[in-house]
Formats: sequence, structure tokens, C-alpha cells
Amino acid sequence: MANTKKGLVIKSTGSFYRVKTEQSIIDCKIRGKFRKIGFRSTNPVAVGDFVWYDYDEKNKLGIIKDIEDRKNYIVRKSINLSKQIHIIAANVDIVFLVVTLSVPETTTMFIDRFLLGSEAYHIPVVLLFNKMDLYEEEDIERINYLISVYNKIGYECKKVSAITGNGLDYLTEKMTAKVCAFAGHSGVGKSSLVKAINKDIELKIEEISDIHLTGKHTTTFAEMYEWKKDSYIIDTPGIKAFGLIDIEKEEIAHYFPDIFKISSDCKFQNCTHSHEPQCAVKKAVESNEIEEFRYYNYLQMLEDEGEKHRLSLR
Ligand code: GDP
Ligand code: ZN
Repeated sequence: MANTKKGLVIKSTGSFYRVKTEQSIIDCKIRGKFRKIGFRSTNPVAVGDFVWYDYDEKNKLGIIKDIEDRKNYIVRKSINLSKQIHIIAANVDIVFLVVTLSVPETTTMFIDRFLLGSEAYHIPVVLLFNKMDLYEEEDIERINYLISVYNKIGYECKKVSAITGNGLDYLTEKMTAKVCAFAGHSGVGKSSLVKAINKDIELKIEEISDIHLTGKHTTTFAEMYEWKKDSYIIDTPGIKAFGLIDIEKEEIAHYFPDIFKISSDCKFQNCTHSHEPQCAVKKAVESNEIEEFRYYNYLQMLEDEGEKHRLSLR
């Protein structure tokens, strides 16, 4: 591999990949097949991947030969090919789930589904309660309650406001030297937070000519901006939830840390904590050790998953 170099994929269009090395930024194509991942995906290489490539001086093009093992990845089911999945980004250090109580409403069901995905895909999530400047006493109490619940389970939470700048020092520090992404409903303030963080820093989007991208209709799947040295923000058309693949009904509880912790005390090893006798989880809900809403959200997911299986049997 004398001439092979390593770089970081910062943009993916499906046919071309923009790769950043210490010295430069180049466009690359793929040659050959990658069979490292154990499932079929619509894109073998994603933003955040570290790749090995050879540079073709004549065509000013890199040829990607290999991908480094991923520490994690975010996927979404492909819209047109239901059996395939699409990798939005790889090697994500932290995802900020931006939550607002109203305008728009973020339900605990939405939060818990998101956290389930983050557990399954090993992606650290921090909950950002944004628009704190808007809330009345009652809303603040509700937020304090939610923070106490999620903190107890082990999730970091922070109150922020993109408008007043409250909590943004914390956010800037959390984002430094990491690859991060923002998730949450449309309108919760994801882009406002990113802009607020970047207001003193000139957003350094390195431009190179798009010679390989012109002509054909190209869609940018995702892009990564280096807003500070070694600190990246993944810009994607939205991570609403993690696409869930291959999660069995019995597995759902594994990704609820509060439920999983207690489930070893259930009488039956394969207890789903729904109808079984001598269920330690149900007892823990009664004694408030497990928060009631978490348990109901879990049951709802269990039911949804059952529905999916019934449908797939037809
Ligand atoms: P996104 O869809 O998640 O990117 O949300 P935007 O950043 O576009 O914000 C949606 C709306 O919420 C805009 O009108 C913002 O000005 C407003 N907004 C965002 N953050 C805050 C905040 O902290 N406080 C208040 N009052 N409004 C905010
Ligand atoms: Zn049980």
C-alpha cells in the first residue's frame, strides 16, 4: 500500500465522496466492494468514515479501497428499497437530542424511542431542553422533573436557550474535539443552536471546486463541517429517530437501562414485563423505582414491535 493514503469522509453524494486529509480535500470514488458490514446498505461509505484511497493524479480523483472499522453508525431505512438501509453517518461521538415542551411538543415517547436507538447503536446522547426563555413556572417544573428522571437513568441533560445564550458555554465545550449531530423535531431550534455556537467563529466550510459533482443530478446525503479544529457538526436532512433494524421484542428491554437493571430479578428469564407473574419490573414501577411513563412507553414499543411481526407473517 505504498501510495495509499488515509482520510476522513466529510461529504457523501452517493457517487462521490469528499475526503479530508491533513494536507488537502479531494473527491473520491469507490472501486470494488466492501463487505465489512453485515447488512445490505444503499451506501457502502458514509460521512464520518475513515477510508484508505489511492490518488489518480491524471483524473484528480481518489479511489477508495478500504474503510476502517466503524465504532458506531446512524442508519435510516431506505425509502425505496425497504430491505436496505442507508447509513447517515459513521463514528459519531455525540448526538444532541433537542427537546421542547411546546412549539413543537416533544413527547417522552419520542425521547424514549430515540434513546432506545442510541442504546442499540452505542451512540451517546445528551438531552438539550431548548427555548428555556419561553417557559412559565409550570413548564420549568415539568422540565426539572424530566431531567431528574433521565439523569437517574444515566442520561446527561442540559437546559439551554439559543436566544439568550443560556447553556451555550456548556454546549461548546461538549462539542469540542468531537463529531456531533443534532436531532429532534423540526422547529425545536437545532439550526439556531448551531448558529449561536458559531456566531464568533467564522464557519469554516472549505470550498473546493465541484468538478466531479456537476452534470448529473446529485443528492447530498450528509455533510460534516469542521467548525473548530477537529470538531465537526454533521449536517443531515434530519435525524428524527434511529432506524431500527433487527430488534426483537425480547431485546427492547435491553435498551431501557432502568428496566434492564431490574429485569434479572424477574421469575422468568424471558420475561417481557407485560403479563408475566412475579415480574420485578412491574413491582419496581409500583414502588416508583422505575418511572411510570418509561414503563408505559416501553409497553407501547413492545406492542408496536408485536404488530410489526404480525404484519411480516402475512
Ligand atoms: P430547527 O428546525 O430545529 O432547526 O429549528 P430552528 O433553529 O429553525 O428554530 C425554529 C424556531 O424556533 C425559530 O423561529 C427560532 O428562532 C426559534 N427558536 C430556536 N431556539 C429558540 C430559543 O432558545 N428560544 C426561543 N424563544 N426561540 C427559539
Ligand atoms: Zn419482568
